[in-house]
Amino acid sequence: MAKKKSLKGLGARYGIKPRKQYTKIHLQLKEKRTCPDCGSKQFGRDAVGIWSCKKCNFKIAGLAYDVKL
Ligand SMILES: [Zn+2]
Repeated sequence: MAKKKSLKGLGARYGIKPRKQYTKIHLQLKEKRTCPDCGSKQFGRDAVGIWSCKKCNFKIAGLAYDVKL
C-alpha cells in the first residue's frame, strides 16, 4: 500500500506559481506584528480582514492577509 502524504498547504496539482504565492501569503499571515495601540507583539489576524490585539483588544480592519498600518 502506498503511503499517504500529509496534506500541507496546497498539493502539487496547482503548479508552482500559486504555491509560491500561497507560501508568501502564509508567511505574511504568520509574521509577528506589533499592535499600533499598545506596542504589544500579540497582534494578529482575528478573522479575514479583521486584526486585533490580544492584550488591549484594539481592533482594526485590514486586508485579508495583511494589515496596512
Ligand atoms: Zn494592543
